[in-house]
Amino acid sequence: MSYPTILELHAKGLQMAIDEHAEHEQLKLNTLRGGSSGMLSPDGTPLGPDASCPRRALLRAIGINIKPTEVRDQILFDGGLANEIKFYERVAAAWAEYGGEVLSEEECPTTWYTSNGTKVTGRPDGVLVLTKDGTPVRGSELKGVFSLWRARDVMEGKPKFEHMLQSTHYMWQLGLASYELTYVSRSIYVTNDMANRYMPQYGAKLSENINYYYYQWRPKKRGDGLTKARITEEEYLAGLPNNRKLDVPRSKWPEWEFQAVPASIKPMCVSFDMRIVDGAVEYRQLPDSAWTKTVITIDGIRQYYEATADLLVGPPGAKLPPEPTNVDVDGSRKNYGSCNYCPLASKCPTIKTKQELIKAAEELADK
Ligand code: SF4
Repeated sequence: MSYPTILELHAKGLQMAIDEHAEHEQLKLNTLRGGSSGMLSPDGTPLGPDASCPRRALLRAIGINIKPTEVRDQILFDGGLANEIKFYERVAAAWAEYGGEVLSEEECPTTWYTSNGTKVTGRPDGVLVLTKDGTPVRGSELKGVFSLWRARDVMEGKPKFEHMLQSTHYMWQLGLASYELTYVSRSIYVTNDMANRYMPQYGAKLSENINYYYYQWRPKKRGDGLTKARITEEEYLAGLPNNRKLDVPRSKWPEWEFQAVPASIKPMCVSFDMRIVDGAVEYRQLPDSAWTKTVITIDGIRQYYEATADLLVGPPGAKLPPEPTNVDVDGSRKNYGSCNYCPLASKCPTIKTKQELIKAAEELADK
């Protein structure tokens, strides 16, 4: 008798998970999700990537999937799930020493209703709960770092807008005064010149997460010019007090004689503490950065769900909200649009009503 290979079994298991998820989605029709959190700016513009677009949220609520999950997507989701399991296992073991427990996402779901009665559900990743009286004291949202560019953003101290939006939604709904958005990277990412522009300098904040190469520029033994010699960290540190600018064009040679150049990013864990002040979210990178304001507000999140819920129950001719604007947490525009990676990008600019949107999405889903 021949048996399937492990590879074949894994592929089949992935497909089973995709099918199971699709079935589960059918049970949640006409419900809006915390996982697709969005917000409206004061002038009514949706803010965030395509996943935070009210039009996409509408289609998901009525069961039209314009971006079917592929096996490769599921591999990525599994990576996120595996990340959560080990992360909360470690946190729970340490928190138990304080007499506390960690609630899993099944144990702390959130549910609320918009003013037209539409249900909004969510599942925070983890909530730390004191066992003495069961009072939730701190919420947690965990995200995996699965690319060099995400690792670079974390290095820059930049949480992702949609992650902070989702965390704010849960923080508000759980009535928690304190929340933490954590990024964990379990890989070693080799950097490149472009990414290195954003990496911390040797000795600066977060530089403990970086492996550096150390160099000294020395005169060539034969001929003119300089040559780059690898040195140890100790030699680099010994050279620093006398480090001097090299008298050569910047375009041709680096500026300093002794250099520490990022080589790779180590496995790491970076967390952003969150609080709500006058209805708006502020964050600080732990352990001790200053608080930074964001454009994310509770009211903006509420308005997003109200607008999407109105669209959901509205007539076929209901007017659509504008296309979203892709922003960072400080409100500055990103250098790529929200719609760039959305399958409806070529159709949306001419679509004006709910009926037209559903027709275009159904055509896409049928392909
Ligand atoms: S193309 Fe843009 S506006 Fe249209 S559904 Fe996608 S994200 Fe929303």
